Amino acid sequence: CDEIPADHPRHDSLVTRHRIEAGVDAGITSRQGLIAQGRGEAFDYLLGEETIPSADRAARAAAATLLAAEHPVLSVNGNVAALVPEAMVQLAETVDADLEVNLFNRTEKRMAAIESHLEDHGAREVKGRNADARIPGLSHERAKVDADGIKAADVVLVPLEDGDRAQALSEMGKTEIVIDLNPLSRSAQVAAIPIIDNILRAVPRITDHARDLAKAGPEAIEQARTDFDAAEALDAAEARIRDGL
Ligand code: ATP
Ligand code: MG
Repeated sequence: CDEIPADHPRHDSLVTRHRIEAGVDAGITSRQGLIAQGRGEAFDYLLGEETIPSADRAARAAAATLLAAEHPVLSVNGNVAALVPEAMVQLAETVDADLEVNLFNRTEKRMAAIESHLEDHGAREVKGRNADARIPGLSHERAKVDADGIKAADVVLVPLEDGDRAQALSEMGKTEIVIDLNPLSRSAQVAAIPIIDNILRAVPRITDHARDLAKAGPEAIEQARTDFDAAEALDAAEARIRDGL
C-alpha cells in the first residue's frame, strides 16, 4: 500500500482495505473477515476516523493492565494478522505477553499461515496450535485454546473478537481487553476494558502508553488501571457517533 499517499483523506481506510484483501489472497484472512471489516469501517466513519479521547484513555488502561498482569496473552485472528502483524509483535514484546492464534473458523492451514506470517514479522513464539484446552460453554472448534496460553492467562487482549467468545472468556474470569469499533457490539459490552477504535490506531497506541507507563513506574500503572470506567468509555463513543450524525 505504498502507493496510497499519506495525506489522502481516506488513507487509513484504503490501507485497511488493501491489507485485508492481501490477507485473503495469502490465506490468512477468511472471506468472513471481509464482512467484519466492512462493519468496522462503517463505525470508523461515524467516529470520524480518529482516536477519540475516551479511546485513548482506554488504551492507557489496557497498557497498564497488561503491564500489571501475571500472564497476559494477545489473541490474533485473521483480520488482526492481516492488519497489524508487526504492531502486535511489538506490543507482545513491550508488555511481555504471549501471542496466540485464535480463529473463529479454525483450519490447520490458516493457523499455520498466520503463525508463519507473525514469525515473518518478528514473533519468536506463537501459540495456538496445541489446542490442548477448551473454553467452557462454546462449541468444539471455537472452544480450542492452548493450556499454557489463553487458558492460563489472567489478562487477554482480544481484538475484533466475536461476541460469544468474548462472553465465554469473561465468564472464565479473565480480565478482557477488547478492541472493537462498534460500542454496541457484545464483545465491547462484556469487556473489562473496551477500546472503541480502529485496531490500526489502537495497537501502536497501547504500546506507546506501555513504554511511557513502564518508565513512570508502579504508581502510575496503578493509577491508570483504577481511573478507567468501561461504561463511561462506551457511552462516550456512542455519544460521539450520535453527535456526529
Ligand atoms: P456481536 O459482538 O454484537 O456479537 P459480532 O461479533 O458477531 O457482533 P462481527 O461482525 O462478527 O460482529 O464482528 C466484527 C467486529 O469487529 C465488529 O463489531 C466491527 O466493528 C469490528 N471491527 C472490524 N474491523 C475492525 C477494525 N479494523 N478495528 C476495530 N474493530 C473492527
Ligand atoms: Mg462483536
